[in-house]
Amino acid sequence: MNTTSVNFIRNQPYFINMNRTYQPLTANLLAELAHLFPQTLIWEDKELLFNHSHDETENLSYLPAAVFIPKTTTELQTLVKWAAKNKIPLTTQGARTGLAGGALPVAGGIAVSMEKMNSIIAIDADNFQITVEAGLITGEINRVIKDLGLFYPAETSSKDSSFIGGNVATNAGGARAVKYGVTRDYVLNLEVILPNGELIWTGANTLKNSTGYNLTQLIAGSEGTLAIITKAVLKLVALPTHRLVLWAEFDDILEAGKAVTSVFKGGLLPAAIEFMEREAVEVGVAYLNHNPTGKKLDKTAYLLIELDGNQPEVLQKDAETLFEILQQHQVGEILYADNAQQQEELWKLRRCIGHAVKISSIYKEEDTVVPRAQLPALIVFIKNLAQQHNFKAICYGHAGDGNLHVNILRGNLSQTFWEEELPQLISVLFEYVKQLGGTISGEHGIGWVQKKYLSIVCSPAHIELLKMVKKAFDPEGILNPNKIF
Ligand SMILES: Cc1cc2nc3c(=O)[nH]c(=O)nc-3n(C[C@H](O)[C@H](O)[C@H](O)COP(=O)(O)OP(=O)(O)OC[C@H]3O[C@@H](n4cnc5c(N)ncnc54)[C@H](O)[C@@H]3O)c2cc1C
Repeated sequence: MNTTSVNFIRNQPYFINMNRTYQPLTANLLAELAHLFPQTLIWEDKELLFNHSHDETENLSYLPAAVFIPKTTTELQTLVKWAAKNKIPLTTQGARTGLAGGALPVAGGIAVSMEKMNSIIAIDADNFQITVEAGLITGEINRVIKDLGLFYPAETSSKDSSFIGGNVATNAGGARAVKYGVTRDYVLNLEVILPNGELIWTGANTLKNSTGYNLTQLIAGSEGTLAIITKAVLKLVALPTHRLVLWAEFDDILEAGKAVTSVFKGGLLPAAIEFMEREAVEVGVAYLNHNPTGKKLDKTAYLLIELDGNQPEVLQKDAETLFEILQQHQVGEILYADNAQQQEELWKLRRCIGHAVKISSIYKEEDTVVPRAQLPALIVFIKNLAQQHNFKAICYGHAGDGNLHVNILRGNLSQTFWEEELPQLISVLFEYVKQLGGTISGEHGIGWVQKKYLSIVCSPAHIELLKMVKKAFDPEGILNPNKIF
């Protein structure tokens, strides 16, 4: 195995892996491909190859032999047919913001970047639908449809960088999933290229569909292993006219967790309810160089809660109920943001935490999810585990969904601990998550780095069935090989 460690961007060393297990892209094959695609294939630009060798997962980097950047579905179909004939692995890449290593070209071959297939094809306001190409930055959707009174609620915290194709392929969640659902809930129909190069639409542009197996929902969340998504028809909803955002402080991290359950038991359905422990907020504030709360960060945990609707008086009443509920959990000060600028500043702080943590240290991010009422138990377990084994875990996430991101920082931890002991502790954490009725990924996927833990939550028969599905789509295993299982 040829591995080297180099310093590159982010001031963090990347672990570059050149290991190849698949058919190599030989000079002859490259020459044939370069002749077919003189504009679209890049293989001599080392910096570009490096850029496409990693996503946001830890410090991992796997160099592809070439990068293919198609502008049209036809070009991409031709490439897939060629790759199928020559058994060359293809790894589809969105914006490479993924946190499970799904877009890493671990088998070498060709990285297929969707960045130039980024148009909005049609907006059907009467039917509350939009049709987009897979390489569109997701945040563009709401920017374009806002003036039509329409809303795409499944945006992620990475909305200004990640692509809709990547969101569909990972079944991404986001802060508003608790009220509105995840990406999968908004995908009506997909245009995809199958591993043999055939192009199909998976469904229909309808709200109901009982026509055979649901391929749309199977491909959503399949992490680029079954097909390449080229277009998506997405469902939209009416844009709520009013929003209220609250920032609530807690001295007791457990009470913050318990308050989340009480909010729902009290009959409220917030658009978002996000949990952050103090260290997460501190890292975010340091990154922004600005504290939009204007408060001293001396509490243990914080909740960011958004209420939305169309009637201000109903919203006001809900806010009062919310206040009473939070008081039962020893809430400290509550900050109400009722103008758009204040709200956006608080959201900016919440959204930047993931990135801010990542640039502070090499890290491993776990994407645990449990039934919502089990969140306090999960938080206690993680804090105890970290204390007992002397590692630092910063926790934050989509509390309304029971989805807690656990960022374990490398800091001064030894290599032996990081590579050998920590994976065992992560297994212990996942066993506990399973006991609570949860699972190992709420929204990031399994990709490359989580597959060693899959058997904790999926039985051998379950994994075998997943493999059979993969085989039915991709008998030669050319699409995003070595991912998920
Ligand atoms: C700061 C930060 C915040 C984040 N916040 C969230 C969040 O709130 N919620 C959340 O769910 N995730 C979040 N993520 C993770 C990440 O943004 C999501 O997983 C996102 O959906 C990945 O999209 P992408 O375009 O970057 O895809 P990539 O990372 O490039 O790819 C992800 C997977 O999708 C596959 N894929 C990509 N495009 C296609 C396609 N067209 N056809 C078939 N397969 C494809 C790839 O092969 C890979 O397996 C965050 C990440 C960061 C860095």
